Amino acid sequence: MILEKYSFGIGDRFGREGKAQLQAVKKAKNDGIDITPVWNKSHREHTIIGTGPGDVRIEADEAVQALGWAHSYRVDADHIGLKNVDLFIESSDFFTLDVADFIGQAADEKQVSAFVNKYKKYSGSVAIPGIGEALEISEGQIEAIARKFLLAINEAGRIWRHIESAKGAGNFITEVSMDETDQPQTPAEMFFILAAIAEAGIEAQTIAPKFTGRFNKGVDYVGDVGRFAKEFEADLAVIAFAVKEFGLPENLKLSVHSGSDKFSIYTSINKALKKFDAGLHIKTAGTTWLEELIGLALGGGEGLAIAKEVYAKALGRFDELCGPYATVIDIDNEELPRPAVVEQWSGEEYADALRHDQSCEKYNPHFRQLLHVGYKIAAEMGDDFLNALDKFEETIAQNVTENIYERHIKPIFMA
Ligand SMILES: [Zn+2]
Repeated sequence: MILEKYSFGIGDRFGREGKAQLQAVKKAKNDGIDITPVWNKSHREHTIIGTGPGDVRIEADEAVQALGWAHSYRVDADHIGLKNVDLFIESSDFFTLDVADFIGQAADEKQVSAFVNKYKKYSGSVAIPGIGEALEISEGQIEAIARKFLLAINEAGRIWRHIESAKGAGNFITEVSMDETDQPQTPAEMFFILAAIAEAGIEAQTIAPKFTGRFNKGVDYVGDVGRFAKEFEADLAVIAFAVKEFGLPENLKLSVHSGSDKFSIYTSINKALKKFDAGLHIKTAGTTWLEELIGLALGGGEGLAIAKEVYAKALGRFDELCGPYATVIDIDNEELPRPAVVEQWSGEEYADALRHDQSCEKYNPHFRQLLHVGYKIAAEMGDDFLNALDKFEETIAQNVTENIYERHIKPIFMA
């Protein structure tokens, strides 16, 4: 099972927007851009919403059937580990192995020295085709990288073999993710991580590093865009080189766990993909849930009332909702509108504050981030919320499709 060159991870917290999401990918197809849609959902999201991996499979299958999509699509067991992978085996064909928690845990010293002995031939200056500067690596750095990452890659190997024994060789796609950690990985680290992945026999088709800069939930990138662009290009070059050096799958590509909406780096990504003729998996989550709120608000009446209620309750439970996401949000409480103010808003005013349009002066990134992590509130509303999604389906679907197509697919893959 091969993952195509371009793939797009679409999260859908409440599982109602599969068709509207696929519609955006279908529009791209009509424009001549082939993108494989991948529906992703993590164990944490399932737990908060009260859904299971089987629900994502049903949603994906139904969307594909309804739209007559005759091309590939995948269901991603997002950020799984050995303790929860079994829940996803049956319904998923894409597995994102999350070993970030194991990074930095001491690897076996014998394994470290064997690794260093084998790969010290790369110490000194390594010329990587496609990037101007050679990678400068000392034997000491190789050893430090081995110490920091080998245990994590061993763990990825254990999860991978577990999945392989259950699903059979070649019947699933593997991503190795290391993004949910505090330190970004350098291109040199990436090179030796890929060596270790090859050693462990993991047939990884995508790798998700942590990039430099801040990837806050649902809002734009914060950081040095020029530095990101340089790192991103170096990663693409390192991957192409490592595929040849270590015999990794030919289609191995970068995966960007974007936290959604990193608009200011999309141009750099687009240029780099063209320059290196490289593939990409880009994972988004939560952006669709916010379009649901926008659609409800614009629908007016009961829809707008629900959208306002979600915000008022989210504000009241700020610490509880933001706590688990503390490292990936930056909310200034002073900038959050009071519920009494929001209560007076029209649907358009609510939508303008929430919609990720930085050229609109009413856009409020603090409001947006709080709602992004506030989906638990909607989950607790149960049928009241889900029935409203059904009632305002048309307005919501329009916003979901337009958001994915115009604000994500176009700048990343086209132009
Ligand atoms: Zn991630």
